[in-house]
Amino acid sequence: MITDYERLAAMNKDYLWHPFTQMKDYYHSEPLIIERGEGIMLYDVQGRAYYDGFSSVWLNVHGHNVPELNQAITDQLGRVAHSTLLGMANVPAIELAEKLVGITPKGLNKVFYSDSGATGVEIAIKMAFQYWHNQGVHGKTKFITMKQAYHGDTIGAVSVGAIPLYHDVFRPMLFPSHVIPYPYAYRHEGGETGALEATLTALRSLLETRADEIAALIVEPIVQGAGGIIIMPPGCLREMAALCRKHGVLLIADEVATGFGRTGAMFACDLEDVSPDLMVIGKGLTGGYLPVAATLATDEVYGAFYADYQDQKTFFHGHSFTGNPLGCAVALASLKLFEEWNLVEGVRTKASFVESKLAALKDRPYVGEIRQKGLMIGIELVRDKVSREPYDWAERIGVRASLRARELGMLTRPLGNVIVFIPPLVSNEAELDAMTDILAESILHVTEGG
Ligand SMILES: *Cc1c(COP(=O)(O)O)cnc(C)c1O
Repeated sequence: MITDYERLAAMNKDYLWHPFTQMKDYYHSEPLIIERGEGIMLYDVQGRAYYDGFSSVWLNVHGHNVPELNQAITDQLGRVAHSTLLGMANVPAIELAEKLVGITPKGLNKVFYSDSGATGVEIAIKMAFQYWHNQGVHGKTKFITMKQAYHGDTIGAVSVGAIPLYHDVFRPMLFPSHVIPYPYAYRHEGGETGALEATLTALRSLLETRADEIAALIVEPIVQGAGGIIIMPPGCLREMAALCRKHGVLLIADEVATGFGRTGAMFACDLEDVSPDLMVIGKGLTGGYLPVAATLATDEVYGAFYADYQDQKTFFHGHSFTGNPLGCAVALASLKLFEEWNLVEGVRTKASFVESKLAALKDRPYVGEIRQKGLMIGIELVRDKVSREPYDWAERIGVRASLRARELGMLTRPLGNVIVFIPPLVSNEAELDAMTDILAESILHVTEGG
């Protein structure tokens, strides 16, 4: 008799094509099949328990199967599951918009919904483009992005993306963007100061010569996520924002990964008092429960679209599920929990605990750098600590460390040679203690042998 697991594993092989997955490798592996979650644990169909050490790819906030969030969805389900936002409204979409305007950086007063980070980014770049067009400013059609930037996987988002492994194959079908260096201090010969200078110099000279061709700069504020959890030197974001303002270029902050407490502030922009012209949020917006994203705009941006119909300044963009009531209802409930549990402040305390726990790893021979902002952590492994020579990609050191973590009861997913630890914000000290132990053990296992 075949077990439930065997039946599902066979169907998984036969019918599913997984994202960001080489299916040939996956085909020969033993698939993990999740059945349920409770708190920060996930359970597979064979009954094994795992810590959700990467917040189900960076989005879970309050854990899984949270009574308050479940209730919010159930209550809304009893009213209506979906109704469109095209020319009409629904109750939770309105109430959530008001809340979002209240918690986001000042000046962002309008909320445009979508259903994923990538669509939120598409909306931001289309808005920035049309913002100039609507005012009769022609030629400001290009975008600036940063090396190793990740903004999602739709064509527009990939056009402002700069991760060669993911994006190069599509280059011929993309619109070209200007790419400036990201201040990656660990891999810059001038260290933090040199990396910062290189970024600002590149941005300054681009803006001084080409600002009249450029609609906007898009940036992952303070922490670059998929590029390897790379943290900007202090003052970088603020200076970039000032340069954009000075040269009449819009600033788009992609807070999809950094938003909702992840970095120890509600938004990473808050860490440097930056108010972007457009801001994209997703992932943690619904507590990681349902696919809702949003693009927030200033009155200035919104105003460029607000006109008589025959002027043809309308933003002709939308999605079937824009402003989904179930998603907005759970986002509202999530924000209520943020307040009730003082979650953002809690993140800072938890972050210090994690930092002290991971300190012991710093001196290990194959740990190049431990990077952390709030509860967003990346540990870069290197073959040679002195020369900082990276592990060859073929060694798949990150993948092997993550597999070891899974054996030890924690889920995570690496970014190349960077081990990622992004626990749900609600994780308590005992849970963080256990997870960091597994993290350390997995790293030592694959680097120093065990
Ligand atoms: C995850 C992510 C996105 C894409 O969000 P999806 O919901 O996966 O489309 C965009 N930007 C950043 C910074 C992200 O981390």
